[in-house]
Amino acid sequence: MSTNPARIILKDKRDAPFRRGHPWVFSGAIEKTEGEITPGTEAAVVDRRGDFIAWGLCNPNSQITVRLYSWNSKEKIDERFLRERLSNAVALRKSLPAVFTGRESEAARLVFSESDGISGLIVDYYAGYLALQLTSLALSFKLDLITKLLQELLKPKGIYLRTEKGIRELEGLEISDKLLSGGRPEGPIVIRENEIAFEMNLTEGHKTGFYLDQRDNRKRAAEFARGRRALDVCCYTGGFTLNLAKGGAESVTGIDSSAVAVEAAVRNAQRNKITNVEFVKGDAFASMEKLLEEKNQYGLIVLDPPRFAQKSKGLSQALKGYAGLNGLAARLLTPGGILVTCSCSGRVTREEFRGMLSEVSQSAGRRIEILEERGAAPDHPVSAACPESDYLKCFICYVE
Ligand code: SAH
Repeated sequence: MSTNPARIILKDKRDAPFRRGHPWVFSGAIEKTEGEITPGTEAAVVDRRGDFIAWGLCNPNSQITVRLYSWNSKEKIDERFLRERLSNAVALRKSLPAVFTGRESEAARLVFSESDGISGLIVDYYAGYLALQLTSLALSFKLDLITKLLQELLKPKGIYLRTEKGIRELEGLEISDKLLSGGRPEGPIVIRENEIAFEMNLTEGHKTGFYLDQRDNRKRAAEFARGRRALDVCCYTGGFTLNLAKGGAESVTGIDSSAVAVEAAVRNAQRNKITNVEFVKGDAFASMEKLLEEKNQYGLIVLDPPRFAQKSKGLSQALKGYAGLNGLAARLLTPGGILVTCSCSGRVTREEFRGMLSEVSQSAGRRIEILEERGAAPDHPVSAACPESDYLKCFICYVE
């Protein structure tokens, strides 16, 4: 048996981002490889001179050929290493104000991939249960170990694996949703966010069940809502809608194309005895055009569409999509209206999003003033080394 680890030798002058901690090595940065490299192989990534940079896990089938985990040559990606990373991630959440305090009905993201030094792993906590998501084939070989470590660390009632659409194409990862340990909840779980109760479905909801990243943006948007007639476009299970209503909006209409989401939103409103809201199943664009034709006007509009740009070549298409949606919103807003506009596409930068808003401002003939540029809630930290982890933009704007 060979004792020499496999090595990935980088091209000349391509090592800088990896030395600074960026964890994604694309095939274009690699000069050559030594030793057998198969999916999951642990390899040392070195520069052209052979100097060690980091330990990574390989996936020759992915555009991200190697994901880096440990920058210490003596610290391999083993049980001890993963235990420490996971417990650091949980400790960070416990140190945040009012995020993960041990209350039964809490919900929080406990592990956020690159931002916690575990590229390809997401762990969300929902009222005693964990939802685990894998976006890396190489890391999937350590799934049993990760499950065991999470069980020890958090003693959840159950751990459920959720998979993302497209992961088979991106990573060659053949995996399906399943219970990993413990039990599954009987029916929906009820979590509390900003003093509002929401049902969420651990085994069937979008992503891992709930859009936790918008927690603080929903709370902040609600502070602008008093007395305004509001529209929540792409409302899912009513996250922004119910926060706006609680913040004193005159009325709120939520629109979403998913019937399942709209039905859950209706139940969430009833659960919280909130009555000045209505939910409509419909396409965002078509519904807003219809509202315009019917001469509706709103004092506050939230736009929280799904990810438009998956790949870099989809970027201009995505920006067009955002411009279309934001243009409709600008026309539906009363003078002095508030636009809360979001993008969860990691490929769209803040500058590009701002540029899109400036075009919308011109084409709609409405001045747009950005009051706040916000991101995801702090249980989704942004890694300074990995700008892609700054994926969520939430701009609160004043539209003249
Ligand atoms: N604002 C929500 C999260 C929105 S996620 C919250 O705070 O929880 C994006 C939502 O857009 C999903 O619920 C999805 O069903 C919906 N969606 C996707 N395409 C759509 C379309 N064309 N029109 C309306 N809604 C759409």
